[in-house]
Amino acid sequence: MNIAFDEYGRPFIIMREQDMKERLTGPEARKANILIAVSLMNILKTSLGPKGMDKILVSPDGEITVTNDGATILDNMDITNEIEKLLVELSKGQDDEIGDGTTSVVVFAGALLEQAQKLLDKGIHPIRIADGYEHACKIAVEHLKKISSEITFDRENYETLITAAMTSVSSKVVNEFQRQLSEIAVKAVLTVADLERKDVRIDLIQVQGKTGGSLKDTQLIDGIVIDKEMSHPQMQKEVSDAKIAILSCPFEPPKPKTGYKLNIDSVEKYKKLQELEQKYFHDMVKLVKDSGANLVLCQWGFDDEANHLLYQNELPSVRWVGGVEMELIALATGGRIVPRFSELNEKKLGLAGHVKEIPLGTTNDNIIVLEKCSQKKAVCIFVRGGNKMVVDEAKRSLHDAICVTRNLIRDNKIVYGGGAPEISCSLAVSKAADEISTLEQYAIRSFADALDQIPISLAENSGLDPIETISNLKANQIKTNNPFLGVDCLGKGTENMKEQNVFDTLAGKIQQLLLATQMAKMILKIDDVILHHGQN
Ligand code: ADP
Repeated sequence: MNIAFDEYGRPFIIMREQDMKERLTGPEARKANILIAVSLMNILKTSLGPKGMDKILVSPDGEITVTNDGATILDNMDITNEIEKLLVELSKGQDDEIGDGTTSVVVFAGALLEQAQKLLDKGIHPIRIADGYEHACKIAVEHLKKISSEITFDRENYETLITAAMTSVSSKVVNEFQRQLSEIAVKAVLTVADLERKDVRIDLIQVQGKTGGSLKDTQLIDGIVIDKEMSHPQMQKEVSDAKIAILSCPFEPPKPKTGYKLNIDSVEKYKKLQELEQKYFHDMVKLVKDSGANLVLCQWGFDDEANHLLYQNELPSVRWVGGVEMELIALATGGRIVPRFSELNEKKLGLAGHVKEIPLGTTNDNIIVLEKCSQKKAVCIFVRGGNKMVVDEAKRSLHDAICVTRNLIRDNKIVYGGGAPEISCSLAVSKAADEISTLEQYAIRSFADALDQIPISLAENSGLDPIETISNLKANQIKTNNPFLGVDCLGKGTENMKEQNVFDTLAGKIQQLLLATQMAKMILKIDDVILHHGQN
């Protein structure tokens, strides 16, 4: 990122010298930046909410992604501009911390900047606007806390968690299986969670996918899954009390160094070489056997010769195990990843109660499952689907659902959704603005207007008249003093989101407001841009 800060902490953009063509400073620079952010918001806002449009993204090599996940859309867009890059990072920031709200955060940041432009046009200084936004954000966050509720759940009764997960699994691609996927995600999280300590290690949840079958065949597997088979068809398919050698070294004789010339000009020499190779394999297999291992997982492939020897020595083995799986297996089984055969010993073996190769539902594929790992309980969600696009979108939705569930276990506070909290905060912030006599009141009011953008987009995407919907909602929230009234996106006949059971986590919502405000302030302060018109 070519963003730097000057000695006063003001951000500015640097470009390479040969790219310097035209320079914008002050108001013009700001206007250009805001325009970019607003147009990005306009793309993303049509994806917001349960009726949001899915976007089809085509990569330069023709691969197709269908999604309504903000972070994914931004990730796949052809982004060259620095401001766009900042907004991509904004969305990713929300994704890393919270997991959902990735569309909303960019829409809100765009809305803040759009409102800021109106104030700039009136001659209000950007620093003033930034300060006002900061102040308004504090009011909104405090208000969110006030209107939040707590949900309850335990290991047996976790319907509320499923409901929360369902709000985040709303892409059309996977809609039909919303309930099933949410249930699987929640069960997975509960399996690895420590409810007393409110701690969830989501790295113990694998989300694996394989095309074939249908989404309905997606299953939760109790253990770690390796999407591979035993390396030799005649090897035993099940190992009880597995002692696992986790190897990151190949079963191969060492390669001659480059520049080294091997002259094989007679049958004897060839035989000698072959014997030497065999000896290598024998030694390797012996080292594994001597360590006490009864199962080998190898990050690399192995030669047919080695494979045969492993089979003869009754050492079931799996080759080409992925790096991420290797680490997870080491963590869950208490083993070490061993980079050299000579370093193998009993202490470095991973332990699992049961390992087996099992067939996968309807197709002819097999997978290997490591059950009862000795150190940590790990689970795998194995996603099936008709094509790669469906599988990928289901994986993304599951990621969101897992994050939401984890967030609720950490902190069980929620706010009812559908734009209700934004409307309620907008009212609270406007009210605060009325009590302020300085110039700051304008920025604070603009912040309230920007908040309206979320329910406006939800209404637009659901085919409702946005202005009418929002003004009615505001009037009703005031009249009934009910902060749960939001946009009835799915036409269920009630605006009460508590009755509709639509909610988002309080932590996620607060994070959205904080990150978007911070980003809008930062973009407002950039007043020097060098425009780039190609390199001619
Ligand atoms: P994000 O990537 O920001 O999470 P989404 O497309 O998932 O974007 O939309 C989330 C917004 O949609 C939230 O404001 C949420 O409250 C709202 N929402 C989700 N489901 C419903 C629903 N059934 N009715 C009304 N609003 C909903």
